[in-house]
Amino acid sequence: MQEEIMLKADNIIKYFYEPDQFKVLKGVSFEVKKGELLGLIGKSGSGKSTLLYVLSTMDTDYEGKLTINNNLITGKKQNQLAAFRNEHIGFVFQFHYLLPEFTVLENIMLPALKLNKRTKEEIEEKAYRNLALLDLKGHALKKANKLSGGQQQRVAIARALINDPAVIMGDEPTGNLDSKNTQVVFDIFRQLAKEQHQTIITVTHDDDFAKNCDRIVEMKDGLVIE
Ligand code: ADP
Ligand code: MG
Repeated sequence: MQEEIMLKADNIIKYFYEPDQFKVLKGVSFEVKKGELLGLIGKSGSGKSTLLYVLSTMDTDYEGKLTINNNLITGKKQNQLAAFRNEHIGFVFQFHYLLPEFTVLENIMLPALKLNKRTKEEIEEKAYRNLALLDLKGHALKKANKLSGGQQQRVAIARALINDPAVIMGDEPTGNLDSKNTQVVFDIFRQLAKEQHQTIITVTHDDDFAKNCDRIVEMKDGLVIE
């Protein structure tokens, strides 16, 4: 069976210019298959977050070629990229960036309301399903800032999943969680990859987490050393 490639990075090179010119990504190439759970590891400063930012389509200041879900990303305009991201990519960061004064439900629904492809009722139903998936039933109508850190992180994941993104990207998504919540997040990622064939690319410092990924990609000094 031919396995489908979901993301392809082809010789990605990036410089920072402040305070001095510095080649932070030195020609990164790798592929991620559809439904793969990929762990990105490497020492602090090796370029993981910078690479993820390029892969997420938010950073366009690089050389090389990025293809996601058979779309050539490199060269697209900002408004096209914003639309692409909202529809195809979900993000989970170490800090969750929820809107504190909005309810949990509103936070989760927001990216889908913005995408405007389903009715409000459909979106709400999906949001409640995501809440159940993340073991957050009963918290829907609370203000986001009334939840614990672990719960807020799970809300952020529920939000990242609202548009059924083909790719989910995480930058140390479990970085401020205890081991129990780390396991919860990992199990959800595992399930999404396996059952819904969503592709997951996540930076992690957690050895147990990394060990359980389908594949590990290691970065060193701006290069991938698989
Ligand atoms: P990691 O996530 O692997 O810890 P980063 O991608 O955050 O690494 O950073 C890689 C390197 O780029 C580091 O040396 C860091 O200091 C540098 N760096 C990160 N962001 C910037 C920036 N905006 N301007 C200049 N240098 C940066
Ligand atoms: Mg980082």
